[in-house]
Formats: sequence, structure tokens, C-alpha cells
Amino acid sequence: MSGGDGQVLSGKAFLETVLKSVKKAVELANIPQDIYEFLKIPKRIVIVSIPIKHKDGKISNYIGYRVQHSDALGPYKGGIRYYPTVDLDEVTALAMLMTYKCAALSLPFGGAKGGVACNPKTLSLEEIERITRRYTHMISDIIGPYVDIPAPDVYTDARVMAWIMDTYSQLKGRQVPEVVTGKPVYLGGCEGREEATGFGVCITTREACKLLGIPLKGARIAIQGFGNVGSYAALHLSNLGAKIVAVSDSKGAVYSKEGLNIERLISHKKSTGTVLGFPGATQISERELFELNVEVLIPAAIEGVITKEVAEKVRAKVVAEGANGPTTTEGSLVLQEKEVFIVPDILANAGGVTASYFEWIQNLQREHWPRDTVLKMLEEKMVKAFSDVVDTMKKMEVGTRDAVMVLSVSRVALAVQTLGIWP
Ligand code: NAD
Repeated sequence: MSGGDGQVLSGKAFLETVLKSVKKAVELANIPQDIYEFLKIPKRIVIVSIPIKHKDGKISNYIGYRVQHSDALGPYKGGIRYYPTVDLDEVTALAMLMTYKCAALSLPFGGAKGGVACNPKTLSLEEIERITRRYTHMISDIIGPYVDIPAPDVYTDARVMAWIMDTYSQLKGRQVPEVVTGKPVYLGGCEGREEATGFGVCITTREACKLLGIPLKGARIAIQGFGNVGSYAALHLSNLGAKIVAVSDSKGAVYSKEGLNIERLISHKKSTGTVLGFPGATQISERELFELNVEVLIPAAIEGVITKEVAEKVRAKVVAEGANGPTTTEGSLVLQEKEVFIVPDILANAGGVTASYFEWIQNLQREHWPRDTVLKMLEEKMVKAFSDVVDTMKKMEVGTRDAVMVLSVSRVALAVQTLGIWP
């Protein structure tokens, strides 16, 4: 599925792709058609205007969205992105995916997403703060710790979450850290949140290898993208004995037959801004990275990179989707035909939202858990979700991508059917 950071698909095409996958899951699971019609429309859509005054006195007006898709399984949960091309269809599609991602992990959350169509790269910090506070004010009636809990997404970070928390708290007249997750650790954020998504990718990759009888110790792994998700996935997998033979970033890719030293590579990237030029490694093209003779391939950069043509050349036995929507629909079919085991994005990269869930619990209880506790609980959640997907796959005789959707859509549908329609 596509439609993440790089916006390869239009919002409309992205929404159609998401709806198609939900429809297929509904059919496979024999869920009544009227439930699909119900799930097709978000429960609430809010569109707001966000005027801000610049230093020179001029006014710009931005458009902001919050789409609350389903709260059948719990309060709405989902990130807020600041990106020039954000539109209603894209935010709606992402809100729906959040519903199913939370359901796949059995988190007591529904799904939502927010966005402001703006380009943070051209805005000052003060302007971003003003946009954030005004946007928060405009949606303050429909968010809340038991209603809808936002989180960071593309071009929003811990500082933006702190502004959301502060604005909401000022409006309510008391500190409400539990209204948002992804805050700085010293302001109620969760230990281990930064590494949680990469750690989750590592755990699901480990489980996939176990299932296929591939020893992780010595397994060769290639990773596209060496940002938050890619670097932490690499670090945790190499700690388990896997050999990270290639990684890439937006500037290019590096390869080492013996395996790259990930801690040193992280320092190298920090000091030079790229993985290129890492001592002892040879530079390869990104296309070569995808075609390497490896056991595991982890796309952890942008969407839509494993196209039909790329998939035809993939030699990995496992593709673990760290990024959102890295494989096109056609690419996915080719991988399936080649019997490549796909760990679908909504399962593989769900470590982040799961750590967000832990942050929310800690905030509600005014507790602060150590990193080890967070990672242990995260591992348990990821292992259980993986095994649920494999059970569904075997029971329904479908691939992993259909299995995760059947599992999550069935969970949401059951909740909807049980709750019924009021009045
Ligand atoms: P990031 O910005 O930290 O890192 C992205 C990395 O990809 C960078 O190293 C960048 O150089 C590289 N990159 C960009 N374009 C590339 C290209 N064409 N070829 C190779 N490398 C390229 O982002 P991130 O937080 O690691 O997110 C990566 C993906 O994971 C995104 O799809 C995101 O939506 C998804 N995701 C992230 C989280 C999270 O918690 N960070 C959670 C769920 C999903």
C-alpha cells in the first residue's frame, strides 16, 4: 500500500487502495457488506482554518484536518503530519490504516489522523509553534485523553507534541500530558519510544526467520533507509547476530560482505550526514541493494519503492516493511508469486504506536517505566500480533498482507456488530 512521506500516490488513489484492501478483507472474512459500508465512512471529519500572523504583519491561512475513522475499539489514536500536499483523502486513508494497525496489535484504540497542509521547511520555529497552537485550539473540543490522542508523524516531532500538550492543558486549566503521545521523555514521554519502531521491525523479522527456519545468527540483511526506523532495526538485528551487509540513505548505498559495524556506522552518519564513505564498505547503487543475495530485505525509507520490476529481482526470503507502503500492489503480487514472506507494514512498523500506548498508560497513572520494561512489553505485543497473523494466514490460506487485514478488520467489525447502532 502506498501513500507515506514521499506522496507517490495521490490522496485519492491512496484512499482507493486502502478501501480496496478493506473490501477484500471483508469478503475473505465473510463480514456483512453493510459493515463495510459503515467502515467506509469516518465517524467524524473536522476541517479547520489556521490563520497565523508573520513577523512582517502579513497573514497566511493554512488548512488543517483531523479525521476520526473509528472508535469502536477505544479512543481515536493517530499522528499529525505537516506536509504541503496533505489533503482530506490522504488523511482519511491514514486514519483508516491507524484503525487497523491498532486492531492488529490488539491495542484498545481506534484510528485517527491529522494534518496541516504547510511546508515546515520554509517556516520558522515560531511560525510552526503558532500553527500548532492554533490547530490544537481548533480541534481541542474533539481531542482528549479518552477521546482522541494525537502523536507525531511526518515533520512533527516531540517539541510539536509538547506544544499540543501545553495548549490543551492551558485551555483545560490543568496539566493533561495524556492528551498526546511522543512527547519529550522529560515531559512525560516514554523511554524507548525513539527506538520502538525499529525494535518492532527487528522482533517481527526475528519471528519471520524463526517461522521459515532461517537462523538469524549470520543471516544477511539489506536495509533501505538509515533514519529512525532503519538504524534502530539495524542495531537491534545486529545485536541478535544478524549480518547487516548493506544500508542506504537518500545519498546512496554501502555494502560489506562481512557485515557493517552498525554502532560505528551510526556515528559516521551523525558526523558526515550520510552512510557513504564508511570505511571498509563499498558503494553500490540502490537498485543493487534491492537485488542482493540476502535472507532479509528491509525497506525503511519511503513508499512505493518495491515495484513490479524491483520485486522481480528481489532475492531475499523475507521482506519486512519498516516504511509505510514500500511495496506497490503489483510488487506485492510478484513477491507473493515468488513465495517471499512479507511482514506487512501495519504489523512490522507498529512498534511506535504500541510504545505510544504505553506512554498513554504511564501518563494516566502518573508513572514512568524504565526502558527495559517498555521493550519487554513491546516485544510481547509484537510476538503475539505476529503469531495471530500467522494463525490467520494458515486458517484462511491467504498471504500475510491479506491475513493482517482480515484479522484487524474482523476485530473492528466484531466490535461494531456487538456495539450495534444507537439510537
Ligand atoms: P527518517 O526521516 O528518520 O529516515 C528516513 C531515511 O530514509 C533517511 O535515512 C533518508 O535518508 C532515507 N531516504 C529517503 N529517501 C530515500 C531514498 N530514495 N532511498 C534511500 N533512502 C532514502 O524517517 P523514519 O521515521 O525512519 O521513517 C521511515 C519510514 O517508516 C516512513 O515510511 C515512515 O512513515 C515509517 N514509519 C516510521 C515510524 C516511526 O516511528 N519513525 C513509525 C511507523 C512508520
